[in-house]
Amino acid sequence: MPEKFDVIVVGAGPAGTSCAYTSAKNGLKVLLIERGEFPGAKNVMGGILYRKQMEEIIPEFWKEAPLERPVVEQRFWFLDKESMVTTSYKALEWGKEPFNNFTVLRAKFDKWFASKAVEQGAVLINETVVLECIVEDGKVVGVRTDRPDGDVYADVVVLADGVNSLLAKSLGFHKEWKPEEVALTVMEVMKLPKKVINERFNVNDDQGVSVEIFGDSTKGALGTAFLYTNKDSLNIGVGTTLSGMIKKKMKPYELLEYVKEHPMIKPYIDGAETEEYLAHLIPEGGYNSVPKLVGDGVIVTGDAAQLVNAIHREGSNMAMTSGRLAAETIMRAKESEDYSERTLDYYRTAIYDSFIGKDLKKYKDATHVFEENPQYFEQYIPLMNRAMGTFFTVDGTPKREKQSKIIKSFTGKNGRLGVAKDLYRAWRVVK
Ligand SMILES: Cc1cc2nc3c(=O)[nH]c(=O)nc-3n(C[C@H](O)[C@H](O)[C@H](O)COP(=O)(O)OP(=O)(O)OC[C@H]3O[C@@H](n4cnc5c(N)ncnc54)[C@H](O)[C@@H]3O)c2cc1C
Repeated sequence: MPEKFDVIVVGAGPAGTSCAYTSAKNGLKVLLIERGEFPGAKNVMGGILYRKQMEEIIPEFWKEAPLERPVVEQRFWFLDKESMVTTSYKALEWGKEPFNNFTVLRAKFDKWFASKAVEQGAVLINETVVLECIVEDGKVVGVRTDRPDGDVYADVVVLADGVNSLLAKSLGFHKEWKPEEVALTVMEVMKLPKKVINERFNVNDDQGVSVEIFGDSTKGALGTAFLYTNKDSLNIGVGTTLSGMIKKKMKPYELLEYVKEHPMIKPYIDGAETEEYLAHLIPEGGYNSVPKLVGDGVIVTGDAAQLVNAIHREGSNMAMTSGRLAAETIMRAKESEDYSERTLDYYRTAIYDSFIGKDLKKYKDATHVFEENPQYFEQYIPLMNRAMGTFFTVDGTPKREKQSKIIKSFTGKNGRLGVAKDLYRAWRVVK
């Protein structure tokens, strides 16, 4: 007879490992299945890991986890071809306990995190692909893997298999994601000496910077580029919705080369050597794309459930909280030995009551509105750059004349009413 577990978790990313860790810590018999050579081997992230949600799983994890730098400054750059408008927030407090967020390299972090789940008693098997869920009488009762005699059984199967989530799809929980529901992102880890990073970003060894870059970095398409500081490397990447890429006929690797060559960005990466090249999808459909989250004997977590806040580039934290909430739901269900959809529905309620549901709801129309109205990225960012250029160039033109020229540049194409409507529309979707 094949062995039976309380929980089988598919995928050892932040969602799956959080679930495995919490379940095992509370005495459940857990099997964590990962297709990679080790957890993190295939995982991709720009690199910002949020302290709060990780700490809810492992208190004071920063004393032990392989982290890069605590982020003390968040910069935002709005690029035109040869200029940029910038804003930033720097807080020395973020460089001290309990910190705000950290840069991480997933290959190191995920491996360490999964080892903590194993310490709690979870069984981890790597290099094993879950091919399908085993369904009996409409209930998920286990998984079929690519190993010989590879069927394993459990009271609950937790799907934490990431954005593609073929398993949730095959259960009929969602259809193929549409091109506007996912962003295609490419990134490089580039080696650069610590001292050079510190000088270029104006930080010391224990401080990091995150830079989010809009406008010309995506050639006006809906998306962003990013530049994050690790200890002795930089993460640089760019992504747009798949539909944006298709519409603008852009190739992701060409877009990344464009970003690396941009005159506002190039000086920061000058002399850095590419160590790794990575590409991945990010689920960006938001609130309206969240699929069915529970069924009889099954729960969907993290990217597999579209739990990403694209506006604030928060995904790993939502994945962790969803994994933890899945574990807590299973612990409750175990008390009554009832793993039906009705009992597991506690998870769905918990997700929507948490910051995940609330934040996704707040921005529920944002992606759609920005996608349907390309003027925000295509027109307004270059106009903002030109307005700054006009205002700050000392050429003898009286300031009032400059002001009216700037206003005309904004209203010229869309009219005052058009600009007012755009402002109102943008405010409504982010308010
Ligand atoms: C370029 C990029 C930049 C990002 N930047 C940030 C950021 O800065 N901050 C942030 O918070 N979020 C960021 N995100 C989002 C974040 O990476 C995800 O939201 C998060 O990783 C989701 O975690 P997860 O556990 O749900 O899925 P994943 O991390 O994708 O993990 C899924 C796991 O399942 C395994 N798996 C898949 N299918 C199977 C199978 N059939 N059998 C066995 N194993 C399987 C995979 O190998 C993988 O280990 C970024 C994403 C990308 C692509």
